Formats: sequence, C-alpha cells, structure tokens
Amino acid sequence: MEENKIMICGKCNVELEPAKTYFSYLDHSFDTDVLRCPKCGLPFVPEELANERMAQVEMSLEDK
Ligand SMILES: [Zn+2]
Repeated sequence: MEENKIMICGKCNVELEPAKTYFSYLDHSFDTDVLRCPKCGLPFVPEELANERMAQVEMSLEDK
C-alpha cells in the first residue's frame, strides 16, 4: 500500500493541506483539491494534474 506523501512548504516549513483551488484556462474554470500551504497559501500543483485538467478543457471545447 502506498503511503500518502506529506508535502512541506519549503518557505514556512509547515505541512501542506488539501484545499479546493480554482483554476481558469481558455475561459473555462474548474476547481480541484490541491495541496496548499496553510500559512503562505502557496499551492502545490503537480504538473501532471494541471496538464490533465487542461486536456479535459481542450477536449470539451472540441466537443462543441
Ligand atoms: Zn508556506
């Protein structure tokens, strides 16, 4: 079983917490849970996640 990785903010040295974060891309917006620092608010967005969501937006645009 894979353990949940604990991410630490390099700036504040506190544990990142999942928080709902809004993104907008190509005039579309979506929200997703990402890890973010409770102190400085810096979100940690894995590149794969961002790419995946953007691909979904692009696909939904093509469907029209
Ligand atoms: Zn921080």
